[in-house]
Amino acid sequence: MAQTIVGLEVGDLQQVLEGQPAFRARQIYEAVYRQRVSDLVQITALPVSLRKELASKFPLGLPQVAAEYKSVDGTRRYLLALEDQKTIETVLMPEEGRDTICISSQVGCPVNCQFCLTALMGLERNLTAGEIVGQVLFVMQTHQLSTGSDRLNIVMMGMGEPLLNLPNVIKATRLLLDPNGIGLSPRRITLSTAGIVPKIVELGREPIRPKLAISLNASTEEQRRELMPITRKYSLKDLLAACKAYPLRKWEKLTFEYVLLKGVNDTDADARRVVKLLAHLNAKVNLIALNPGPGIAFETPDAGRVDAFQSIVRRSMPCFVRKPRGRDIFAACGQLKRVENSEFKNS
Ligand code: SAH
Repeated sequence: MAQTIVGLEVGDLQQVLEGQPAFRARQIYEAVYRQRVSDLVQITALPVSLRKELASKFPLGLPQVAAEYKSVDGTRRYLLALEDQKTIETVLMPEEGRDTICISSQVGCPVNCQFCLTALMGLERNLTAGEIVGQVLFVMQTHQLSTGSDRLNIVMMGMGEPLLNLPNVIKATRLLLDPNGIGLSPRRITLSTAGIVPKIVELGREPIRPKLAISLNASTEEQRRELMPITRKYSLKDLLAACKAYPLRKWEKLTFEYVLLKGVNDTDADARRVVKLLAHLNAKVNLIALNPGPGIAFETPDAGRVDAFQSIVRRSMPCFVRKPRGRDIFAACGQLKRVENSEFKNS
């Protein structure tokens, strides 16, 4: 794929700009990530000839909107086209006092969780660091968002399994957190994984990394294997051992996500087992009532069941219920499968 500018760090820019003085790389870096220009010719700090040369040699590398959907609750789902015309999804969830952008890490996903629509696509390819960061730049530009006053949260919970694209995810994280560039707070970026155990260990060694959320989704080894076949390779036992050894920062807790499936993993006994599994960890739990979709053979539990589950877990550790956002436009957790307008009515 063509070399783009978005995704490059200062050192990379210096290499790409061979022959130019070093300060040019920093000027371009600031224009792209701090001022967030939408075209290289807008970098007025550069001589016109260099701007033109750059623009003719390299695409900036921001994604293009292929489709946009707006939910009754204000959530927006973007279908974004990449350089090679493959499409991914990015979701903006505005709230009172904060905004959350949910970004994708792969085109499709190779992990075949039985309750997730993205799984039905399979994996098409990994995203580059530039394509991961480009989603954030695009949404920030479109909605004039700023990183100021801790308002902006990024969750790597869109399409894909981020830990199966770790080098690009880490590079993207460095770009998102760099105070000289985008400048997000390290407490405001979270990665969610299905539980790729050796990669959790690798992530823990990274000096600059997102917070870690883990999709638990079951209360026993057997149940987890059924619901998330990838866990036959990465067992619950090994996962919990890696979590115990994970080097949390002082202010950090591990988040465990748990998709509640009616009559499958939502009983009081499941809740008690979840508490037992996580008791020795510095953890909090986010419950997600299933977001339904075509081809998904599970049902959403009633609100009363969700409450009962939460009250059991909450006695032992913080436990929240994730509010579904944008279900009506297929923007909620597990619903990102490039569903188009015409398909809504069939679901
Ligand atoms: N691959 C990563 C990132 C996806 S994050 C992971 O597995 O963690 C998306 C979250 O939504 C995960 O916790 C996943 O378990 C959950 N999820 C998937 N399908 C869902 C659905 N249909 N309804 C509710 N949550 C779902």
